[in-house]
Amino acid sequence: MQTQLLIDGEWRDGSESARFDVENPATEDVIASVAAGTTEDATAACEAAAQAQVAWAATAPRERGEILRRTWQLMIDHTDELARLITLEHGKPLADARGEIAYAAEFFRWNSEEAVRIHGSLGTAPSGANRIVVHHPPVGVVVIVTPWNFPAAMITRKLAPALAAGNAAVIKPPRETPLTALRIGELLHEAGLPAGVVNIVPTMSSGAWFDAAVDHPATRMVSFTGSTEVGIVLLKRSADRVLKTVMELGGNAPFIVFDDADIEAAVQGAMVAKMRHSAETCTAANRFFVHAAVADDFTRMFAAAMSDIRIGNGFDDGVTCGPMINAKAVASINELVTAAADHGATIATGGGAVDGPGHFYPPTVLGNVRSGDDITRHEIFGPVAPVITFEDTDQVIADANDTEMGLTGYVFTRDLRRGLAVSERIQAGMIGLNRGAVSDPAAPFGGMKQSGLGREGAGEGIYEFCETQYIATDW
Ligand code: NAD
Repeated sequence: MQTQLLIDGEWRDGSESARFDVENPATEDVIASVAAGTTEDATAACEAAAQAQVAWAATAPRERGEILRRTWQLMIDHTDELARLITLEHGKPLADARGEIAYAAEFFRWNSEEAVRIHGSLGTAPSGANRIVVHHPPVGVVVIVTPWNFPAAMITRKLAPALAAGNAAVIKPPRETPLTALRIGELLHEAGLPAGVVNIVPTMSSGAWFDAAVDHPATRMVSFTGSTEVGIVLLKRSADRVLKTVMELGGNAPFIVFDDADIEAAVQGAMVAKMRHSAETCTAANRFFVHAAVADDFTRMFAAAMSDIRIGNGFDDGVTCGPMINAKAVASINELVTAAADHGATIATGGGAVDGPGHFYPPTVLGNVRSGDDITRHEIFGPVAPVITFEDTDQVIADANDTEMGLTGYVFTRDLRRGLAVSERIQAGMIGLNRGAVSDPAAPFGGMKQSGLGREGAGEGIYEFCETQYIATDW
């Protein structure tokens, strides 16, 4: 298991030789001690990236693509090992961890194909005096900061397009899950990536680390995934140097079930939208709006499916929901549920934190919740589903949009025309129409409003990591 910092192609201890412990959230056992990067290490990583980026940008796009493609293959070949690492440090069930590796690896394959398709344009000035040549060089050095909920995919979704476009990267993985990130660094080098193009520097002091990385003169871009709260801090700090930013932030997804929906399909979709990856996803359905005519049926069937979920150690057979990431997460989920119950919510199933060891919360369905209640204003980030009854379409759309967040929304109806019309009125970057999952490397991932800026994946994802240069040409 790799536990050192990756700087300039070398594995090193931090400049102060400090280390921090990584825990398995299912057992609370310490599973590794990882080198803690300092501000000097962040600066050294930016320096290495700046040096390496010039040659990397000059490397033929096909060759960059081949290295990414080999990395995809290596990740697929090592699926079992990587999934075990994710389950060990994050806790999610092995099947979810394997799914994450397939998804995470796919960004390397997808972007190996995009590397050779970064298109510019050629036009003629309206005056006819000159030609307008437009092309897209890489940005330069990109600082990448990621959350713990997808230890592999949140890195590869940024790193693969950044590398495909010819950038070098300095990555700060989360302190909860640095091990998967470091292993991906090893595989990138096995695939032939030159030293210094990717640097991975875990740290215990993210604020100071980030300041040092942002202040390095070679840094030109920040790509962040995490909470809106931290995103705002990072955006302000990035503004000091007018850095390009991509921000993938928090969510508060509405899940709307109309009276004509296939209720069984809606319950299956709800289980996927709520419970995938132990309910710790930014796309997770956070507010269930169900038409009054079907609310009893939906809630009963949903509560039954939720109570069938087995929580436990992600390595154990039959477990479909692992632990929450830490004790603080369990406490905050429990606080939201308790306050909702105090305000009149009924508990159809679940409720109440589970005794340790391990940070577990049972799958919970709450009935009799009103839009605007406190629990509908917070990203729950755990296996709790508040159900709100509605009757009027305009009202449910207004309630769905009554949030500063706009990452994902879900709509269930048999009437495709109604489904598309409602989807268009929901202020969210991604909509699942009769589907509980939206993530796809071939689709643009990202949010509206305070859920973020920019998009990851699809054709446009790579252009986030490019500049636009126009050359007025007389020929
Ligand atoms: P977080 O914002 O607490 O942390 C994210 C990262 O930022 C971590 O690496 C953390 O160490 C770092 N960080 C924290 N403070 C920092 C600072 N002052 N300077 C620099 N770095 C700092 O988020 P989290 O708890 O790790 O993840 C959960 C959040 O991430 C949820 O809000 C979720 O919705 C969001 N998320 C969004 C997406 C998306 O694509 N939109 C995907 C996954 C998770």
